[in-house]
Amino acid sequence: MKNETNNFWETKQLNELSHDEWEALCDGCGLCCLHRLQDEEDENAPILTTRVVCHCYDLEAGQCSDYANRAKKVEGCTKLTVERAAEFDWLPESCAYRLRHHNLPLPAWHPLISGSKESAKHYGVFAVNPVLETEEIDLEDYIL
Ligand code: SF4
Ligand code: SF4
Repeated sequence: MKNETNNFWETKQLNELSHDEWEALCDGCGLCCLHRLQDEEDENAPILTTRVVCHCYDLEAGQCSDYANRAKKVEGCTKLTVERAAEFDWLPESCAYRLRHHNLPLPAWHPLISGSKESAKHYGVFAVNPVLETEEIDLEDYIL
């Protein structure tokens, strides 16, 4: 029988999660590692998502290649916090932090519910036919 008391992602607010619970909440989709574009002169311009993934992303492993040092290693990679989960409206709608910030349930494919990290793959970065960032790539050619 399912033990409801263990479903911390349903019973706790983001600011109540332990470090391990916070990390487990990430579904590993990698969609936040895709480059995004916005008109620099218009802060109200829409944020466009490209299918170019950060050069630090390991496409074979399906995860950041240096997660522990990500913020130091890659300019612009920002650690997600409770406050940022509220502020970052460019996060994908499926992002678990965004969903829980809005008190919405996690989808059935979330690893915490399905029990498998594989289940998130169809909904993440691999679903957009990702291209690894290189110096030659022009992001505007890869807008989704
Ligand atoms: S979009 Fe959200 S759930 Fe997906 S990898 Fe990024 S932080 Fe994790
Ligand atoms: S450094 Fe890692 S976590 Fe940050 S955007 Fe790049 S691949 Fe994603």
